[in-house]
Amino acid sequence: MPPPIVTRFAPSPTGYLHLGHAASALTGWQAAREAPGGRFLLRIEDIDRTRCRPEYEQAILEDLGWLGLEWEQPVRRQSEHGADYRAALDRLAGRGVLYPCFCTRAAIAAEIAAAGAAPHGADGPLYPGLCRRLDPAQRAARLAAGEPHALRLDAAAAAAAVGPLAWEERGEGRVAVVPGALGDVVLARKDIAASYHLAVVVDDALQGITLVTRGRDLFSATHVHRLLQALLDLPTPTYHHHLLLADATGRRLAKRTGALGLRQLRAAGRTPAEVRALAGFAAPKAAP
Ligand code: GLU
Repeated sequence: MPPPIVTRFAPSPTGYLHLGHAASALTGWQAAREAPGGRFLLRIEDIDRTRCRPEYEQAILEDLGWLGLEWEQPVRRQSEHGADYRAALDRLAGRGVLYPCFCTRAAIAAEIAAAGAAPHGADGPLYPGLCRRLDPAQRAARLAAGEPHALRLDAAAAAAAVGPLAWEERGEGRVAVVPGALGDVVLARKDIAASYHLAVVVDDALQGITLVTRGRDLFSATHVHRLLQALLDLPTPTYHHHLLLADATGRRLAKRTGALGLRQLRAAGRTPAEVRALAGFAAPKAAP
């Protein structure tokens, strides 16, 4: 018998939920409900304390409950699990695939502008590798001086360490990993214990997630996530990157969504069933 399906919805409390979030949450919820013994978990991705707010977290729980979703307790909140991410960082450091990056955003932008044709990844220009090429003595001196820095994944070193990889995309089949799809991503910053990429990989494994359902906008991130799973010896879930809902003008829904916010729809008198239907999840037809 295949293992039971365990899915999750993992919002960041940086704004109110909109119809696109509802569609995403319902995708995971439905996949769990359709599978015998399926489980649905909720995770609050609040690791970036500079952008998250408790009132948004409260609103997320309320809005999902109003929509009719149920999830298992306890809810995992990333801000409470710094030790798990630190352990993963130590493990990666032990494999020699991390390097400190002292660059400011401005320095990176200037370097990209100066390079003219900077290499681009799936999500835009890639980090140009300034600190990867630092002279080791200089790197050690800057670390010893306590200079603030981030930790980046050396994508080429990581790829060499683990060899070719792939993941299973539900309904599409095997996707071969492009290790440098997003370049040398940041895995920790001086003000944030772990980046989204690291925290999501650690948490999906710790929570036993077998099917990751999330928007198509995160498809390219999965190249990095699969690489991190291999480096950390973690199991690989199946992925389903669903299509994103668009607004009336065809643009992807953003956090500021006006009339398509769940709170606005609710205030306008829409019922949970109507909002589920708007998100593409019509209620099953009543038996005749
Ligand atoms: N926290 C991420 C977001 O709100 C989603 C992460 C994921 O589903 O992997 O965009």
